[in-house]
Amino acid sequence: MRNIFALFLGVMILFSYVSAEKEKEDPLLLTVKPAKLTPLKKAAFEWLDKNMSEFQKINEKIWRLAEVAMEEYESAEVLASYLENMGFRVERGVAGMPTAFVAVYGSGEPIIGILAEYDALPGLSQDTVPYKKPLLEGQSGHGCGHNIFGTASTAAAVALKQVMDEKGLSGTIKLFGCPAEETVVGKVFMARDEVFDGLSCCIQWHPSSENNVSLDSSNAMNQFEVEFFGKTAHSAGDPWEGRSALDAVELTNVGLNYLREHLKPTARIHYVIQEGGGAPNVVPDYARAWYYVRDIDREHVEKDYERVLKIIEAASLMTETTYKVKFISGVHEMLSNRAGCEVVYSNLMLVGPPKFSEEEQAFAREIQKNLALEEKGLKTKIEPFKLPEKSWGSGSTDVAEVSWLTPTTGLGIVYKPVGTPGHHWASVACGGMSIGHKCMMTAAKVMAASGLDFLAQSEIIQKMREEWKENKKGKEYKSPLPSDLKPPLKPKKK
Ligand SMILES: [Zn+2]
Repeated sequence: MRNIFALFLGVMILFSYVSAEKEKEDPLLLTVKPAKLTPLKKAAFEWLDKNMSEFQKINEKIWRLAEVAMEEYESAEVLASYLENMGFRVERGVAGMPTAFVAVYGSGEPIIGILAEYDALPGLSQDTVPYKKPLLEGQSGHGCGHNIFGTASTAAAVALKQVMDEKGLSGTIKLFGCPAEETVVGKVFMARDEVFDGLSCCIQWHPSSENNVSLDSSNAMNQFEVEFFGKTAHSAGDPWEGRSALDAVELTNVGLNYLREHLKPTARIHYVIQEGGGAPNVVPDYARAWYYVRDIDREHVEKDYERVLKIIEAASLMTETTYKVKFISGVHEMLSNRAGCEVVYSNLMLVGPPKFSEEEQAFAREIQKNLALEEKGLKTKIEPFKLPEKSWGSGSTDVAEVSWLTPTTGLGIVYKPVGTPGHHWASVACGGMSIGHKCMMTAAKVMAASGLDFLAQSEIIQKMREEWKENKKGKEYKSPLPSDLKPPLKPKKK
């Protein structure tokens, strides 16, 4: 008996040692169990499966339209009119943007927000083939998969509505048609104009090369243009009469590059010169450059930005030019929400990653071959659910604004081959065919299932809101935009 006990003890010690070692390997790993398939979720999945071809058509239509930021007139209308036909009350042209809309169904609490995006990228037109072949030379394309983004979110919203009707669930679903994500504009203006106010929580996602739920943050950012105005002269004949606007841009950039050393390592400044004169023998009287200032949070960005403005002013003094700063947009850092993301992750495990056919994997490998990448195809697993390795992120997103107004969850679903760059023809190719459709259906199911958990279990939202309040550290949302700044509208193309 004693021997058996000793053996048992030995095994237990060994086991705890092994699991402790494993834990040591990845202390950031979180454990979440797969969600159960409830009758509500089963009903949502069945409705989505039954209506799959309709959503594939919508997905393809927006992919083909490929309208860039603030020009998404038809793409927004495809989604808005579908939602209206399905019984949602739609308000178009919110926050002064004709391509922004809100579609509402139901009444009372909880109020669940779902974000939709649909803008494309210039110059990325691409056919659904595994090699570079523009559909229309020089035209735009969905290089970030926002056609799938908008369609899946709409599908999830309508699936939720169907189940609410069928099973007598109360609450409100609000789908937000958010334009101009690529220019980091749409949601910032919508947030300033209180379009997202009053939500209990919000669901969003993004097409990706991984199936994951991330707790990472993102960088806060300000973006702006600077115009310098000088005086033209003959560069050889009477240059002393000239005041070069280009010199002012160059001196600004020299100053910024010296400034870098004296900013926190989290700061990121980048720029392009958009206009710098026409010919070397004419002193340029006009020059324009576009800047991004990013950092770990709003406070840091605002401090960095103050110093950048001083350098711009100094450059104008040195060159005897005048200048105008045109603020374009700014965003916060993203506040992640672990309580909400756990629910989304458990539903991602329930739904499972998209199942790609051998043909689709071959298509992905062909793309990788053509890009001299390892031919690994599309990921078929769910990434582990982990705490972030660092407390800031590299990119910036206007979803961050929403995350300051309500607890916001997110997920990524595979639509592009491993290793392919973002904003690339490969993403456009995959997003307009069956790979994109499968990504869309998976995302719609995970969001619908998560929405049902939020609708039916008020304690989840309560937990999410407690965490969210703590994350805000007593700060309230303050728009980075000047109160009189108007969205950069673009006219409707004929
Ligand atoms: Zn995107």
